[in-house]
Amino acid sequence: MTNTNEPRKQNMNRKFYITTPIYYVNARPHIGHAYTTIACDTVARRQRMLGTDTFFLTGTDEHGQKIERAAQAAGKTPQQFTDEVAGEFRALWQRMGISNDDFIRTTEERHKKRMQELFRRIRDNGYIYKGRYTGQYCFSDELYVDGAKPGDPCPICGRPTETVEEENYFFKLSAFQDKLLELYANPDFIRPETRRNEVISFVRSGLRDQSISRSTFSWGIPVPDDPKHVIYVWFDALANYITAIGFGSTDAGEQETFEKYWPADVHMIGKEIVRFHCVYWPAFLLAAGLPLPKAIMAHGWLLFEESKMSKSRGNIVRTETILDVLGTDALRYFLLREVVFGQDGSFSFDALVQRYNSDLANGLGNLASRTLTMINRYFKGEVPYPSHAATRTAADDVVREKAEWTMSECSQFFTDYQFSAALESIWIRLIATVDKYIVENEPWALGEKQDEDSRSRLATVLYTSAEALRIATALAHPVIPDATAKIWVQMGLGDIKKFDLSTLKWGQLHLGTKLGNIEPVFPRADKSAVERMQQMEDQQRGSTVEEAKIVAPQPPAAQPAVMAPAIPSADRGKITIDDFAKIELRVGVVKVAERVPKADKLLRLEIDIGTEVRQVVAGIAEAYAPETLVGRKVVIVANLAPRKLRGLESNGMIVAASPEGGKPVLTGFLEDVPVGARLK
Ligand SMILES: [Zn+2]
Repeated sequence: MTNTNEPRKQNMNRKFYITTPIYYVNARPHIGHAYTTIACDTVARRQRMLGTDTFFLTGTDEHGQKIERAAQAAGKTPQQFTDEVAGEFRALWQRMGISNDDFIRTTEERHKKRMQELFRRIRDNGYIYKGRYTGQYCFSDELYVDGAKPGDPCPICGRPTETVEEENYFFKLSAFQDKLLELYANPDFIRPETRRNEVISFVRSGLRDQSISRSTFSWGIPVPDDPKHVIYVWFDALANYITAIGFGSTDAGEQETFEKYWPADVHMIGKEIVRFHCVYWPAFLLAAGLPLPKAIMAHGWLLFEESKMSKSRGNIVRTETILDVLGTDALRYFLLREVVFGQDGSFSFDALVQRYNSDLANGLGNLASRTLTMINRYFKGEVPYPSHAATRTAADDVVREKAEWTMSECSQFFTDYQFSAALESIWIRLIATVDKYIVENEPWALGEKQDEDSRSRLATVLYTSAEALRIATALAHPVIPDATAKIWVQMGLGDIKKFDLSTLKWGQLHLGTKLGNIEPVFPRADKSAVERMQQMEDQQRGSTVEEAKIVAPQPPAAQPAVMAPAIPSADRGKITIDDFAKIELRVGVVKVAERVPKADKLLRLEIDIGTEVRQVVAGIAEAYAPETLVGRKVVIVANLAPRKLRGLESNGMIVAASPEGGKPVLTGFLEDVPVGARLK
C-alpha cells in the first residue's frame, strides 16, 4: 500500500475518548448493557482503525443505599456483593472481546481519592454548602423528587417515594442555569434532538440546588473532612469519567493522561439518564473549572418483542444465550443494524436468526466463500489481475462506483453514530450489487472455458468481486470484528487490525496475493436456533426470579387507566343541564402517541384541540397501538384539572366506552367533524 504515512501521522495527533455509562451493580449484565457497550466498542474500534489515539472506558457504579440493601438481602457484605457483580460484567466484556482500555469500579481507591479531590475543588470554588433537606426520596432510583408530597410516586419508576429529613451538602445547581442553556445552543452537544429539547425545557423551567450527600447510610465515599456524610451516588458515579483517566492523581504520568484525553469526545448513554449527564455533570465540571465533554449521545431502549425489558416482567434477555448459539458478531450486527441508534428498537430471537441468515450467512459469508473458492479453483489461490480496457464492461465499473460511494457514505454515517444506515449502505449498496454482478457474469461458466477472452473476463470478474469483498470487510470490521478478521486472513491480507482505514480505496488488492485457508465464517443457523435460545432463557428465568425480587422490590400495580367516567352516572342522581355545561367536551386530533416507559397501560398523547396542543396520558395502551392513533379524532374533557401520571402531566382526559371486563373503546364520529368542535 502506498501513501499511508501522511494520513497516519496526522491521525496520531488526534485523540478520541469514549465512555459507556458505568453500570449499576444492582443488576446482572443483560442485553441492554451489552447494547451500549457494543455501540461504544464499534466507535472505538473504528477510531483505532483510522489511526486515532483512542481511549475507551467502561466500568461499574457500586455505591448507594440500594446496593447496601441488596447486599444485605443477599446475605453478603456490600464489598462481596459488588465484587461479584462487577466480576460478571468484566467477564462478559472479556468473553465478547470488548476492547475497553480500562474498567473502573467506583469502590476502587483511585476513584475514591480523586472523587474527594473533585468535591474539595467544587467546595473551594464556593459551589457546595451545608443545609437541611426534607422531602420525598425514591430509594430505588436514589433520587430526590422535587415538589412531591408524601406518598407521591417516583417519576422514574412509579414506586412510592419516602419522606426523608437530612442535613446535607448541597450543590449550587441554580447558579448554572444560563451557562447550561448557552451550552445547549450547540446542537451537537446533546443528541438526538428530542433529548436535547427535553433537557432545554427542563433547565428553562428552573434549576434548584441539589443535595449531594447522605448521612443515613454509609456505603459510599466519605465527604472530605466530614466523614459522617457520604457523597451522593450519582455525583460519585459521574466523576468516573475523569477519575479513571487520572484527574486528581498526584502521579505526573497520570496527570498527563488526563490532560491528553479529557474532555471526552462522547459520553454514550441510555435515554433514561440524560438529565444526569446533560445537566448535573456539565454543572459539576463548570463548578470545578474543568473542560466539558464534547458530546452526549443518548440511545433508545431495547424492547423485547415490542415491550420494554424489565426485571418485573421477567423478560430481560441474557447476552450469554445469544453468544452460545450464534456468537458475538451476530449479536453486534443485529443490534446495530436493526435498531436506529437513538430510537427504541425491538429485539426478538426470530428477528435475530432471520437477520443472521439473510445478511451474515447468505450475505457477507456467502460472498466471501464463493469468491475466494473460485479464485482457488481457477487461479490456484492467487488474486488474478483485472484485464485491460478491451474486455471491461460497464458492470465492472458499476461495482467500483458503488464501492466508492459506500466508502464515503459509511464514513459519514459512522461519524454521526448512524450505525444502521452505515450497515445498510455496506449490505444493500455494496454486497447486494456484487452478488448481482456475480450472478449476471457467471464466473463458474467462464471458468469452464479455456480461451483467452474467457480467462481474461474471469480474472476481471473475480478481481472485481474480491476487491469489493475486501472493502466491505474493512468497513464492517468495527461492527463484526471476529468474522472480518477471519475473512481478511483468508484473503491473504494478514492482521486486519494493522490496516489503516483512512487509506482505504479501490484497487489496493494486489495481483498475486496468496489466499489463506478458506472456511465458512457464518454457518447457516437452522430453525432450532430460536427454540434453543428460548429454552435457555426459560431455564435461566426460573432460577433468577427470586433473586430479582430481592434486588428490586416490585412496584405496586400500575395505576389503572384515566378512564373513570367523567359524567356522574344516572344512579347517583340526576344532574341539571348547567351541571353538564360545566364539562367541556371537545373534538381533538392525535398528533403524537407513544408508550409511557414502565407503564403497561399508559400512552402519552399530544392532542390538537384547535386552540392548542394538549398532553394527555391515557390508559388505553392495551387496546390501541400508539401508531394507530396518530391522525385519529377523539373526544377529550378539555377542562379537567391537570394531574400527574407517572411523572407526566395530563391535561385533559380522553373519553372512551369502558365495557365491564373488556378493553376501552374510543368515541368516534360517523361524519367528519372539525377539530375543536364542542360536544353539547
Ligand atoms: Zn424511582
